[in-house]
Amino acid sequence: MSSLDIRSFSATPTEADEKFHAACRKAGVAPVVFTHPLKGPEGEALATTIALLGPHEARTAMMVVSGTHGIEGYAGGGVMVQLLNDASAIRLPRDTAVLFVHQINPWGLAWNRRENEENVDLFRNLLYCDPPYAENPGFDALADALAPAAWSGPVREAADRTLASFVQRNGERELTRIMRLGQHKHPKSLTYHGCGPTWSKRVVDRVIDGWLSRASTVATLDIHTGYGPPGEGLIMSYDQEGSPGLAWLRDWFGEVHVCGHDPLIPVHARWPYDIVADRVPGAKVRTVALEYGTAEVDVLDFDLVRENNFHHLYGDPLSPAGRAVQERFRARFYVETDAWKAKVLKRGVEVFGLTLAGLGRWAAA
Ligand SMILES: [Zn+2]
Repeated sequence: MSSLDIRSFSATPTEADEKFHAACRKAGVAPVVFTHPLKGPEGEALATTIALLGPHEARTAMMVVSGTHGIEGYAGGGVMVQLLNDASAIRLPRDTAVLFVHQINPWGLAWNRRENEENVDLFRNLLYCDPPYAENPGFDALADALAPAAWSGPVREAADRTLASFVQRNGERELTRIMRLGQHKHPKSLTYHGCGPTWSKRVVDRVIDGWLSRASTVATLDIHTGYGPPGEGLIMSYDQEGSPGLAWLRDWFGEVHVCGHDPLIPVHARWPYDIVADRVPGAKVRTVALEYGTAEVDVLDFDLVRENNFHHLYGDPLSPAGRAVQERFRARFYVETDAWKAKVLKRGVEVFGLTLAGLGRWAAA
């Protein structure tokens, strides 16, 4: 195997796309581009690009995804470029293919947001875009306070008072619980699921239908950033002790981070890309969620989230203040140091290999 190369990472969506295309050429695979209807802040084109390594009709398949949470996508994009530049080192078992899905939320990547162009969290949209939509009455009372229409003056002050008094009465954990539950009713507030499939969800559906419909055993590897020790890549599980879900993850990876008791992490009944099973009848599907830490302190600055939200939803993200908060937000999800990038690549290549090996054993079982 050739050495890890931190030049696999990029600083802009355009650079990331160019490096992904170049890596595809080097690997001898043809990229397929899904052009996003909107442009980036510099007027640049935005796209999700996919590439298939291995036979199109393979019955065992692995789908690697970057950028479900927009700005988090630089990490996964770098890992994909590293893997494709070194594709000759990938030993694909018989009847097996790897599908790379590069920047599934390119708008969020370009605009330094975890959400998409509609303020929708794609992770949640993939799971909850279809009605009936669950109610979250606790959120309704706090929606405007969580995402105030002004970042200074009486509106902001009233919002902060509302939140402070809620926390005083109900506790911080209850506020976290209500937010983590998410919502369908307040398109300008936080943790918005959307109503109906987003552009990115429709691309995911087309990709599954077009490239995975013949697969019978599928593993998805969904790469995120923002939680855990800096540069370390945690394998995340919603499953609890004693469950089959945790057993196979430990079999594939050894150490697994169980989310259930951590108030910082929402718990969902399944992972977004488990939806492959809904669209490919009879396929068995497992999702591996890889989460890279970025900061020494894990508590995400809540006001940073709210302020970034304000500039995008009510203010001007391209104003000096808007750009400044975007930079701070970006740094929380993408650490642009050589040391961090080197750790991300090393762990990314390792997890890719372990996923492929586990998938192979599972398909043969
Ligand atoms: Zn994420």
